Amino acid sequence: MAGTTETLEFQAETRQLLQLVIHSIYSNKDIFLRELISNASDALDKLRLESLTRTDLDASDLQITLEVDQDARTLTVRDNGVGMTRDDVVDLIGTIAKSGTASLLAKIKEAKDADAAQHLIGQFGVGFYSAFMVADKVTLHTRRAGTDQGTMWESDGEGTYTIADAEGLPAGTAVTLHLKAEDSEDGLGDYLAAWKIRQIVKQYSDFIRWPIRMATEPTTTEAAEVASGAEGESQAKAVGALETLNSMKALWARSRSEVTEAEYSEFYQQISHDWEPPAETIHMRAEGTFEYEALLFLPSRAPFDLFSRDTKRGVQLYVKRVFIMDDCDALMPNYLRFVKGVVDAHDLSLNVSREILQHDRQITAVRRRLVKKVLGAVKDMQATRTEDYTKLWEQFGRVIKEGLIEDRDNTDALLELVSAASTNDPVETTTLRDYVSRMKDGQNTIYYLTGENRATVEHSPHMEAFAARGYEVLILTDPVDEVWTEQVPSFDGHRFQSIAKGQVDLDQTDDESDETKAAKAQQEQDYAALLTWLQTTLAEHVKQVRLSTRLTTSAACLVGDAHDLTPTLEKMYRAMGQDLPSVKRILEINPTHPLVTGLREAHGANPDDPAVAEVAELVHGGALLAEGGDLPDPARFTRLLTDHLTKAL
Ligand code: ADP
Ligand code: MG
Repeated sequence: MAGTTETLEFQAETRQLLQLVIHSIYSNKDIFLRELISNASDALDKLRLESLTRTDLDASDLQITLEVDQDARTLTVRDNGVGMTRDDVVDLIGTIAKSGTASLLAKIKEAKDADAAQHLIGQFGVGFYSAFMVADKVTLHTRRAGTDQGTMWESDGEGTYTIADAEGLPAGTAVTLHLKAEDSEDGLGDYLAAWKIRQIVKQYSDFIRWPIRMATEPTTTEAAEVASGAEGESQAKAVGALETLNSMKALWARSRSEVTEAEYSEFYQQISHDWEPPAETIHMRAEGTFEYEALLFLPSRAPFDLFSRDTKRGVQLYVKRVFIMDDCDALMPNYLRFVKGVVDAHDLSLNVSREILQHDRQITAVRRRLVKKVLGAVKDMQATRTEDYTKLWEQFGRVIKEGLIEDRDNTDALLELVSAASTNDPVETTTLRDYVSRMKDGQNTIYYLTGENRATVEHSPHMEAFAARGYEVLILTDPVDEVWTEQVPSFDGHRFQSIAKGQVDLDQTDDESDETKAAKAQQEQDYAALLTWLQTTLAEHVKQVRLSTRLTTSAACLVGDAHDLTPTLEKMYRAMGQDLPSVKRILEINPTHPLVTGLREAHGANPDDPAVAEVAELVHGGALLAEGGDLPDPARFTRLLTDHLTKAL
């Protein structure tokens, strides 16, 4: 019944949803403005599109304006977009046409707590109705572009709304909110304050492609002129200039060829608060069933808090240029937390929650694709810009290696990226692929040793046989190395093997002659008594004592079984407050070392001489020190050492 003023009932489901919105399912009420601006922006997009084929439509100077009336306590969001007919208003604003609303509402009502309700509501964009979070009455004036008749709609968000014809309206839509009083306890900000409006627009709508303008406060002269005006003009309001609040520069929505390096750099610096330009920029667009744009940056330098427990991830989520959230963990795995940038997904609800994103199949697919892109970019740097790659690896290698533990799907790609120090060169690092290319004939394992720093690892007794026989050993000194090497079995078919674990027999690859076999058997026999005795004497400290094949110049070293914790890892766990049983290791002694042969003879001559037990203790302590370990009783060790040295002089 167009033409008359009607008071209509909201559809039952709409009414329920309104009640939910009003009764604060949202903790963040500021987002009403984001919703209204997003609707206005859509309306401008639609008008622009229509104007391409209809010359009667004016699409020049499209914009969104925000108007504040302090006295009336209203905030108006106005656009000169496509507008709505009276029927549109009834259909679009008076009802919720979306399917599944009823069942969703039922579930929300059953929800146990506010969190659960919010989780559910996130599946449904409340859009326009969010206005009722901050307003006790909403008035909408609209005229469909290309028609003459305007429409007014008004509601207090309770059971009914009024709709009527309205004359003399410009094309487009104005939504006027009669604001509730500011109430910080209830999360209601001062939405009449210019600074507050500015802040919300900047936060959520900065990249909306249309200008969002606000009338600035009148200057004192303008205000004075109004105040001193004639009687008839006393109702006039002073209006200052229009200030544009948003930057409109959504670089990601442009094509790569239209963006300069300087613009990328500036944008990166703005979102990352970094002073330096990024090491790499990744700009992509995905079309098809789930459209999105992504603009990602790899920083040149690691932030100081990269390893603090609550470092945020750097990817922001936008929906059609509306800011949704920072630190979108669903889009980037933890080990790529240093990647900064923006993902703009077109087909999500503005109201989408973190929980929903975590379980959304399409988002999971986006994340998988982004991870591949980032790893691919690092790989490209490695292939074509070695120096940049090396710098990047220095800064972020330790974090990227966490991916070897977290992200099993990309183990191979990640291993290709790994760079590590190696005995091959005193300074230069090596990739695993290069390591493999240098492996000796018959070598099929990748040898490595973990430890706290290069010097300790390099001079550790474990290295001796490998150095003597010319085998290259990777020197892994990042804490994360202790962990991933336990979990990743091999690279390109070559097993990883810690040279401080298990038995090492570098001669095993060759066929052992009967002669060597016989010599070994003889040695075992010669040492049998000493080994048994040592095992008892040192039982408190080690789980086994055996002859070593990995030592050339040292008397002894400590090794672990294949799955034992390394000493560094043990220390790390203890530092984290974990209560571990002490990890006993294996003492290997060098059967050709004079100290060891001497010990055997002394033990053979008088196994009960306390000096023999003391030397055994010194051998064990020396092995601990050589690998950078801590002595169980340093004072006792020093006293024994001093005594024996004194006797020897
Ligand atoms: P959504 O934006 O997700 O569709 P909303 O509740 O925000 O949901 O808006 C409902 C509908 O009302 C919109 O799809 C649009 O058709 C119409 N609408 C809202 N605001 C405007 C506006 N400023 N100009 C034209 N149409 C609008
Ligand atoms: Mg909307």
